[in-house]
Amino acid sequence: RKGTVIITGASSGLGLATAKALAETGKWHVIMACRDFLKAERAAKSAGMSKENYTVMHLDLASFDSVRQFVANFKQSGRPLDVLVCNAAVYQPTAKEPTFTADGIELSVGTNHLGHFLLSRLLLDDMKQSDYPSKRLIIVGSITGNTNTLAGNVPPKANLGDMRGLAGGLNGLNSSTMIDGGAFDGAKAYKDSKICNMLTMQEFHRRYHEETGITFASLYPGCIATTGLFREHIPLFRLLFPPFQKFITKGYVSEEESGKRLAQVVSDPSLTKSGVYWSWNKDSASFENQLSEEASNESKASKVWRISEKLVGLA
Ligand code: NDP
Repeated sequence: RKGTVIITGASSGLGLATAKALAETGKWHVIMACRDFLKAERAAKSAGMSKENYTVMHLDLASFDSVRQFVANFKQSGRPLDVLVCNAAVYQPTAKEPTFTADGIELSVGTNHLGHFLLSRLLLDDMKQSDYPSKRLIIVGSITGNTNTLAGNVPPKANLGDMRGLAGGLNGLNSSTMIDGGAFDGAKAYKDSKICNMLTMQEFHRRYHEETGITFASLYPGCIATTGLFREHIPLFRLLFPPFQKFITKGYVSEEESGKRLAQVVSDPSLTKSGVYWSWNKDSASFENQLSEEASNESKASKVWRISEKLVGLA
């Protein structure tokens, strides 16, 4: 049978390129889990994906109700779940003031981390029940967790501190909007959310890999300087960033190539190892990358897990 893969944020950028790469093989049915139904349908059409290879389902990660509704709708569809890809993200590098999810949580961490945390916890049982030979849960990470690199060292650096802000619910009322309790910084909030993504992947691995056989993985797909992720950046940045990445840092990767990379993590028989953060070298060969201390700290991972459980209403 065809595999079924859910990809969040498949309406543009990396998610769309991955959906297209997998749909084209004819071996996958892609559930495009998107907040804008029409945009996703149009994106699938213009990418040339054929109808029998995908379904668009509504999911707004910035609302716990929407996440729960999506899970209920998916269960009703009767499809098995073989692979889940947590890809969607918001990035607000120039925001002066925080914005909030439907549940009153700072938007970057609320969407990128907590929405995906609830989604993957609620779908874990479906993955357990699938009889697919290689089941995988993939959470897209970023280089910001890798302080061995130039990009990982650009300030403001990710730092979760003692997580007092997260524990307080990131609501800007009786708690800070930042995980470490500091003043709001949109670029840092994004980086912190990606650290949470990578810690969550490792905590899943420690808790569930042996029992379920599911492969838990994260990756840095390369710098895809052309995606919508940079849409909120100033115009001069958007003009100069792609050539900067192409010629100076040489980290640039096209959307198509990044989609092929993530598609490998979904389906390549040689990438079944669990608990790994995949990266690609300049010849586009995959390798197991090292994470920074912050992004691989076991006690932080378990603390993020426990606080997140409370915030999303699972504990
Ligand atoms: P895009 O902005 O192109 O894609 C992000 C996707 O997330 C869009 O489809 C967007 O939907 C969706 N999304 C945002 N908010 C929500 C929400 N509340 N509910 C559901 N979907 C939502 O960016 P990229 O493709 O670049 O980013 C994809 C992933 O790659 C992210 O996890 C990012 O952190 C990661 N990444 C990107 C890098 C890069 O250089 N671009 C580098 C490293 C990692 P809509 O289309 O409706 O806006």
